[in-house]
Amino acid sequence: MFRWLRRRFLGQGHFARLDAAHFPAFEPGTVWLVGAGPGAPGLISLLGYHALGQADVIVYDALVGGGLLEMANPSAERIYAGKRGGKPSPKQADITLRLVELARGGKKVLRLKGGDPMMFGRGGEEAETLAREGIAFRIVPGITAGVGGLAYAGIPVTHRDTNQAVIFLTGHDEKGGVPQGVDWQAVATAAPVIVMYMAVKHLGSIAEKLIAAGRDPGDRVAIVSNAASPAQSVLEATLAQAGALGERQDIPTPAIVVLGPVSRYREAFDWYRDALKENTLG
Ligand code: SAH
Repeated sequence: MFRWLRRRFLGQGHFARLDAAHFPAFEPGTVWLVGAGPGAPGLISLLGYHALGQADVIVYDALVGGGLLEMANPSAERIYAGKRGGKPSPKQADITLRLVELARGGKKVLRLKGGDPMMFGRGGEEAETLAREGIAFRIVPGITAGVGGLAYAGIPVTHRDTNQAVIFLTGHDEKGGVPQGVDWQAVATAAPVIVMYMAVKHLGSIAEKLIAAGRDPGDRVAIVSNAASPAQSVLEATLAQAGALGERQDIPTPAIVVLGPVSRYREAFDWYRDALKENTLG
């Protein structure tokens, strides 16, 4: 009753009013699969922030920015489960089993992943195992690099004047090659905007496939590296030039690649300038 009154009359407009009572309980023996967002710590959701304060153990990925872990419960155990592109995947099954074990040990387990856990993040595989093993879990979505990371570079993933559809694809399969499961012929012309994760390494062959399938070699490409972090940098090219860029080994990663007209807005929308980069949360 009092809580209701407080909410009703004091409102929840200020962050200071948020306390654990406003959030679902993080029960011992459960796993929360949480998206950290693409870089800046301020891009985690309120639910994710709450989980950081409550967790007993945090199993985190390479793409999770260090600033976030500093906000976590100081006594939480931190387990690094990172992997970076190209290297043979360090046993996803082991990571998932670890989550199961920790949950069975009665811990509040926070599985923290870069961006959104369900976007090329293997969150689906982890959820499958947790479900099969009867471990209760919750999914806390995050801002994915292919939307929020682009926004930090002043690129809207859709604009009414340019595209009514977007394709998200991965440029890298689990064997380390160009994904066989992508129908390049169809993809090339299906949407004006194609957002590519993990695509720098194979950008040359991807560009070739798209051009061979009828995509205009003059289409714009932007490569946004380290999006939403002080190290953010952006390279722009045409699709025809992009292959050569991909072969250069010096494009910083992680990088998100966007093909299509939306990067033209960058000129006017590039809001994330030096002064803002100094701000620790955003
Ligand atoms: N689940 C993540 C994606 C994981 S796959 C998400 O939703 O964003 C890893 C790829 O994501 C990287 O190879 C890169 O293409 C992209 N990525 C993740 N964080 C990024 C960042 N800060 N800047 C640019 N690209 C990023």
